[in-house]
Amino acid sequence: MSKEAMRAEAERLVKEAMEKKTVAVKRGDTRIEAKCGKCGASNRVTAAPGETRVEFKCKECGHKQRAM
Ligand SMILES: [Zn+2]
Repeated sequence: MSKEAMRAEAERLVKEAMEKKTVAVKRGDTRIEAKCGKCGASNRVTAAPGETRVEFKCKECGHKQRAM
């Protein structure tokens, strides 16, 4: 493999990794650790930018509530 080919391959991998990261985490979204008011289980909730009160359903008991 030539030096040029190796460099191109490295660049491709970096680009791919960056694209995957962009897909996995939407820009501006915040992750909130919300505690269920009914059973106390912690839930991972994704909030849109600027949104502080997010509605979520508890993964343990299914209780619908709003996270602060
Ligand atoms: Zn719960």
